[in-house]
Amino acid sequence: MSGWDDGAADCVAGWAAVLSPLFGAWGGAVSGKGGEVPVRGRSELPVVVVGAGAAGLMAAIFAADAGRRVVLLERTRDGGRKILISGGGRCNVLPSRLDPARYVTSSSPNTLRKLLLSWPLAEQRRFFETSVGLRLVLEEETGKLFPSSNRARDVRDGLVALARRTGVEFRFGESMVGLVHPAGDLPWQVLLEGGEQVRAAAVVLATGGLSVPKTGSDGTGLRVVGRLGHTVHETYPALTPLVAEPPVHAGLAGVSLTVTLEAPLRKGRFTTTGGFLFTHRGYSGPSVLNISHLAVRSRLAGGPRQPILVRWTEFDAAAWDGILREARGTVGAQLRRRLPSRLAERLLAEAGVEAGRGLAQLRREERRRLVEFLTRYPLPWTGDEGYKKAEVTGGGVALSEIDPRTLESRIHPGLFLCGEILDAFGPIGGYNFAWAWATGRAAGLGAAGHGGAA
Ligand SMILES: Cc1cc2nc3c(=O)[nH]c(=O)nc-3n(C[C@H](O)[C@H](O)[C@H](O)COP(=O)(O)OP(=O)(O)OC[C@H]3O[C@@H](n4cnc5c(N)ncnc54)[C@H](O)[C@@H]3O)c2cc1C
Repeated sequence: MSGWDDGAADCVAGWAAVLSPLFGAWGGAVSGKGGEVPVRGRSELPVVVVGAGAAGLMAAIFAADAGRRVVLLERTRDGGRKILISGGGRCNVLPSRLDPARYVTSSSPNTLRKLLLSWPLAEQRRFFETSVGLRLVLEEETGKLFPSSNRARDVRDGLVALARRTGVEFRFGESMVGLVHPAGDLPWQVLLEGGEQVRAAAVVLATGGLSVPKTGSDGTGLRVVGRLGHTVHETYPALTPLVAEPPVHAGLAGVSLTVTLEAPLRKGRFTTTGGFLFTHRGYSGPSVLNISHLAVRSRLAGGPRQPILVRWTEFDAAAWDGILREARGTVGAQLRRRLPSRLAERLLAEAGVEAGRGLAQLRREERRRLVEFLTRYPLPWTGDEGYKKAEVTGGGVALSEIDPRTLESRIHPGLFLCGEILDAFGPIGGYNFAWAWATGRAAGLGAAGHGGAA
């Protein structure tokens, strides 16, 4: 672990990575940092990280580990509240495989890819297992990695403890309301609610987006960077449940199954396969959350609503046509064999076919309609649950305005951005933490390499 001294002041992210045990490949536990940092000139001002969520904790750990004094400002009294509620309280820390093409951005997918792959998945996993001390266990059927304790709290507490051991100074209950960029001899200043101005050699903004505001992220960071001249691509709730008004399928609430959803697009189509859940208000489950941004964006655009077609089973139209032609018995029995019975009955009722009809008596038109309902059922969504339930925020700070190596603002040197504030999100499955961890680490290292020498 590198300590701080004047000679190390110009240490840059690159060789910090070689020296430190935190950086994955070398393993080893993180030791505590000894002694207070002497604060004499501007060069020895702290790196100030704003936001102790997933990205901010990671940025603070890596900046401190690279030898910088780090102050972490957090509005809530304990930080990491999204980690606490993540993965149904189990925290899906990472995916076991990462496909960068599944992320959504209005910026360059190439830049997104570079940022994401700056910290390979295997090294991220090693970091959690070695430096944080959390064994991660693969859930075979979903490909998700969870802490072996299945307790999200262990992830949050483990990161906070590691940050403390690395020397990060926490200031909880502090809300950033503005940033003042350096001018003349004045360094960066972080303005706090209450009037205090915290001077900083570099600032890492990790304030998240707008989703689930009760966890502390209410969009202040996005407004602040917008005021500093950054382009903020239009934000919208993503990974959020859909609603139907009136709730036409409320009678099916609680029914769940694996489906494939398809959204026809102007160019091509978006498809996703995964869990689907009927709720009292509409539809949820991983497949619905993964496609919800298209519904939300069509609603916000005010034009025609995005059609979403459901294939309720693994069988396509040809397969169902074959089953309905060749199988024996009643239509109801065939559907119930492959679908939850309440859903089977509902689909038959909507298609106007009696469950007790013999397959041999099915008219061509009835079979055609049934096949259509089973494989291209138009989901009657009318709205969504918005930021209140959105797991992430779509849109955010344009990736073209940050340096993909260091996450430094191309507009304001010394300002670094990471996590959900940036214009990217991924599907359910640990993709969003992978983004937060990778960009948080890169921003922490970038900030550590900034303004070291006077
Ligand atoms: C219910 C739910 C479940 C999820 N489950 C998973 C999962 O299992 N796996 C996965 O990969 N992703 C999951 N996610 C998504 C994941 O939690 C986010 O992508 C991730 O937390 C984003 O990290 P972040 O640090 O960028 O932002 P946040 O976690 O939102 O952290 C931002 C921090 O900044 C603080 N802050 C904001 N503004 C200020 C200010 N002005 N001053 C001071 N502090 C401020 C906030 O209090 C907060 O602590 C889930 C999200 C939700 C809502």
